[in-house]
Amino acid sequence: MKAYTYIEKDRFELKDKPKPALQGPKDAIVHVTLASICSSDLHIKHGSVPRAVPGITVGHEMVGIVEAVGSDVKTVSPGDRVTVNVETFCGECFFCRNGYVNNCTDPNGGWALGCRIDGGQAEYVRVPYADQGLNRIPDSVRDAQALFVGDVLATGFWATRISEIKEDDTVLIIGGGPTGICTLLCVMLKKPERIIVCEKSAQRAAFIRHNYPSVEVVPPEECLMTAQSLERGGADVVIEVAGAEDTFQLAWQCARPNAIVTVVALYDKPQILPLPDMYGKNLTFKTGGVDGCDCAQILRLIEQGKIDTTPLITHRFPLTRIEDAYRIFENKEDGVIKVAVECLH
Ligand SMILES: [Zn+2]
Ligand SMILES: [Zn+2]
Repeated sequence: MKAYTYIEKDRFELKDKPKPALQGPKDAIVHVTLASICSSDLHIKHGSVPRAVPGITVGHEMVGIVEAVGSDVKTVSPGDRVTVNVETFCGECFFCRNGYVNNCTDPNGGWALGCRIDGGQAEYVRVPYADQGLNRIPDSVRDAQALFVGDVLATGFWATRISEIKEDDTVLIIGGGPTGICTLLCVMLKKPERIIVCEKSAQRAAFIRHNYPSVEVVPPEECLMTAQSLERGGADVVIEVAGAEDTFQLAWQCARPNAIVTVVALYDKPQILPLPDMYGKNLTFKTGGVDGCDCAQILRLIEQGKIDTTPLITHRFPLTRIEDAYRIFENKEDGVIKVAVECLH
C-alpha cells in the first residue's frame, strides 16, 4: 500500500509499505477513505517533534471503514464507517476514567498515531485500543462531514467545554485558522452574547466573515483596544488558539478581571507569565492538549446539523498527489483552510 512517510527532517515521501496487520486483541485495521493534513504534521516535518520516529507513516486526522478487528474489540465491526481519534487511550487508568484521556498512562497513550506509530495518510492504518480510538459515523453523516472529529474539531469542542461559557459572555478567540474556526463553531453552540475572533490573515478573516456573519473579526493590532472597550473592560472568556509571537500576552491582556483564559495553542518557545502585571486581575488559566473523549457527542451534533465543518475543506487531492496537498497547505496557497486527501481507490 501507499503510505506518506517521515524520512528525515524536511523530507516526507510516499512509500510502498506492507498493509498493517492486527498486533493485539484490542486493535483494528481501518481502510482509510479520507485523511487530512494538520499543522502538527508540519511540526514533524520541520523536526520540532522529537518524539516522532523516522520511518513512520504520518497523519492523525482520518476517517475510514473498519477492515478487521481483534477479538476484544466490542464497539465496532468490519464494514463500519468510523472516525479515528488522534489520541490513543486505554479507557481504564485513573486519567481515562476521569476524562483526561490526553494523560492516559498507557505506554502507547497520548498522541501516538502518525508520530510514534504509523498513522493514516495511507491506504490502511492500525488503530490500538479500537474501542476508545474509533467512533461509528451515523448513516446520515458523510465522511467529509466527519473528517475533523478526531482532532481539530475535538480540540475546539474540548476548549469550549473547559471554558465555562455563559450566555451573557463575550468570548474572544485568538486565531482563526482551522482549529480556531472549529473552536468558533463549538463556542457558537453555547450562544454567548458576543463572539470576537482575532485573526491577522485577511484571507482567513474574509472566510470567517463570509461563513459566520454574526461573528466580529479583528486584526491583532485592534484586538486589545476592542477588548478594553467592552463594558466589563475585557472579554469574559479568552481562548488562545494561535500560538504565535505575542498572542499569549494578548490573551491575558484582553481578559477582564476574573476571566477564564484557555490556552490551547502549542508554542515554539516558553511564554512569560508576568504575575506582577497581572496582580489583582485574578485570572483563571486553563492550558493544555485536547482530551479527545467527546467524539460520540460531536458526531451526534453533526448528525443534528448543529456543527458543519465541510466549508473548511477548500481543497481535495488523491493520495498520489499528497505532495501537492502539503505544498498548498504549508504555504497557505490558494485560500486553503483544510485539505482532504482521498486514500480509497
Ligand atoms: Zn493534529
Ligand atoms: Zn488510560
